[in-house]
Amino acid sequence: MNKKLINVFTNDMPASKDAMVHIREKFNEFGYSVTTEFSPHASLIICIGGDGAFIKAVHNCGFPDVPFLGVNTGHLGFFEEITLEEFDAFLLDYLSGRYTIQPLNTVNATVITKDGSEYHHTGLNEVVIRGRQSSTVHLGLCIDNILIQKFTGDGILCAPSSGSTAYNYSLGGAIVDPRLDSLQLTPIAPINTNAYRSFTSSLMLPSEKTIEVTPEERERNIYVFNDGYETGYTDVARINIRVSDTTINLIRRHDYDFWSKVKSKFL
Ligand code: NAP
Repeated sequence: MNKKLINVFTNDMPASKDAMVHIREKFNEFGYSVTTEFSPHASLIICIGGDGAFIKAVHNCGFPDVPFLGVNTGHLGFFEEITLEEFDAFLLDYLSGRYTIQPLNTVNATVITKDGSEYHHTGLNEVVIRGRQSSTVHLGLCIDNILIQKFTGDGILCAPSSGSTAYNYSLGGAIVDPRLDSLQLTPIAPINTNAYRSFTSSLMLPSEKTIEVTPEERERNIYVFNDGYETGYTDVARINIRVSDTTINLIRRHDYDFWSKVKSKFL
């Protein structure tokens, strides 16, 4: 690791680009090099923007070990820890080691096609399985090889605890403290009638469980969305979803408290 090398990524907002200039100058004052090209040897990745910019940087960098610091320039900024106005004071804390690291679990979906090929999709917020456009999808759902139900609806979402406040929350899923190692399965518009019986609430599973999704034979088109990145398949045999071994490290203030953050952003 090169302790004096910092990566900085920003979205296209003018305020973010201005913030980038300021952050670069401040780090240069302390003898750090700042680059906008990802280096796995950097000691820190700074992400300027909102949660969307942070998620994009995590994907573009390939879910690295290097810790991230989010600087919020508008939007919600749930993953972001500071604003630009707070940056100079926080920089002194960072340089003196006065901060905490929040580990964020990720979720992995392995798609196994009918010819036996495997494709992996990792999400920080979630993995979503849906059918084509707005058509209903029929999915067998197993938890550790036990068939739980045949689901019918728009689809299912699987979130590690760190993604519980994103799309999962909008679907009525539970907000989960990221210190709990869990995998949450949340239905998207489940059909619960005399014709179909689908669960209508989220299921909370321990992180070592595997969810196996088996599309019914009639399902030709299955789409996997990991943090909004879409991949379409026409020949899915099954999809295994579980909490991944990959963890993202997020820099937080020394007195960071998850529930205070929830209160300030949601209530
Ligand atoms: P996006 O515009 O990047 O994000 C949509 C909203 O979700 C933004 O306000 C974003 O915050 C916020 N957000 C993202 N991750 C969050 C988290 N972990 N906790 C709390 N809020 C969070 O949308 P996108 O590019 O389509 O997809 C990225 C993410 O958006 C997906 O991973 C999914 O979770 C979420 N999404 C939500 C819905 C929904 O709620 N109905 C639908 C589709 C996708 P910022 O404003 O700070 O960027």
